[in-house]
Amino acid sequence: MKADIVVIGGGASGFAAAMAAKETAPAASVLIAERLPRTGKKLIATGNGKCNLSNMSLGSRNFHGSIDAMEIIGKTPDWHELFTDKLGVACATGSEGREGGVYPRSNSSTTVLNAIRLRLAALGVTELCECEITDIKPSNGGFTLTYSGGQIDCRRVIIAAGGYAAPSFGTDGGMLRILKSMGLKSEKICPAVAPLRVSPDRVKGLKGVRIKGEIAAFSGGRELRREKGEIQFNENNISGICVFNLAYLFQQYEGRLTLRADLAPDMTEDELAAYFRRLRSDRRGSTVEELLSGFFVKNLAVWLIKNVLGRSPAEPIESVSDHDIARLCSSIKAVDFEVTGCSPWQNAQSTMGGISADSVNDRLEASKYSGMYLCGEILDVAGDCGGYNLQWAWSSGTWAGKNAALSLKGGRK
Ligand SMILES: Cc1cc2nc3c(=O)[nH]c(=O)nc-3n(C[C@H](O)[C@H](O)[C@H](O)COP(=O)(O)OP(=O)(O)OC[C@H]3O[C@@H](n4cnc5c(N)ncnc54)[C@H](O)[C@@H]3O)c2cc1C
Repeated sequence: MKADIVVIGGGASGFAAAMAAKETAPAASVLIAERLPRTGKKLIATGNGKCNLSNMSLGSRNFHGSIDAMEIIGKTPDWHELFTDKLGVACATGSEGREGGVYPRSNSSTTVLNAIRLRLAALGVTELCECEITDIKPSNGGFTLTYSGGQIDCRRVIIAAGGYAAPSFGTDGGMLRILKSMGLKSEKICPAVAPLRVSPDRVKGLKGVRIKGEIAAFSGGRELRREKGEIQFNENNISGICVFNLAYLFQQYEGRLTLRADLAPDMTEDELAAYFRRLRSDRRGSTVEELLSGFFVKNLAVWLIKNVLGRSPAEPIESVSDHDIARLCSSIKAVDFEVTGCSPWQNAQSTMGGISADSVNDRLEASKYSGMYLCGEILDVAGDCGGYNLQWAWSSGTWAGKNAALSLKGGRK
């Protein structure tokens, strides 16, 4: 089998790469090779089926890793140009999830996938599914790709095979291992946009508690990043979008990362103390539990009474001293959870780490292999939760596809 350009991976970045390649070099044959029975499986699952495809506010703060994502995003069409103008997907902003998130107006990811499919078909891009590429060899100025059904010869290859996150969608890091064996450098990986593990003993009794708060990541007493939003406690981890946005830090700070939660960010310690002192006298004759029952859900109230005050919830409310209230309030404003690990890959939405900036040039072409381009999650870029990872996939895919096609037109081998 032969094609001018083969895109390995039928996900968001592979679609963008194939569209851009064919638009740039319409005469070139472009083939998407996808290991799963269908392309776009992960895209359908994004944003809880609603596809948070970009964000109104994109900045370097939202992207992590050695590659300058914003530089490439700045060189490619924005979401409006790509989705509304070119693909005909009407979009709405800010209606769901994170502030500034861009979604299809239909609130359905199938609208996005359908529009992409129509465009790929109109352009004449072909797909080969159940085609897992297991080997890539430079040959005759191009590449020979091996899969179970045989070999594909191509002049350019675009690797859009994703990372390790959510392996049920075809991404188990296999392609990263192939690239590493070919001498490309990969930065250390860890799950991003994912929960962070804490000791089950530390969160015993908190499972299922959700609270609007603020959470900061600390290492060695230094605050690394602070996020606001819903904090969710589980049996052995803490999740919620604000924690998801701190997970990438595990790559650099493994073993020395602490989450500090503010469980009442809208109130000062003094305001909290005044509130609890008033309640203590208003609820005279009741129990310690009733000191907190008007403020927190029961499980969190009981957890604070046991872990901060070292009391039983059934003790009389009068036994709580002013000093106890002060301790309680300082813990409500800053309660620490040591991070003991990252989440399993199946609970992650993205990959921190991947093929490093050292291994690609500014056209996203592998420095060691001219004619091989990379895009999407396989590269060392992890975006925040809120449409940033898909924006990176669209932009890096478009950029890689365009450059691969231009190199054909320019007559480079
Ligand atoms: C549940 C979930 C929800 C998400 N929601 C959002 C969201 O709302 N907004 C957002 O911005 N981001 C979201 N993300 C992240 C986003 O989906 C990814 O960052 C993005 O899909 C990455 O695109 P990609 O093209 O690099 O890789 P992928 O979309 O992972 O595609 C890679 C493709 O390559 C194929 N492949 C892998 N190896 C081979 C091989 N050897 N041969 C052939 N094919 C291969 C895989 O089967 C897969 O289809 C979500 C992720 C998950 C898991």
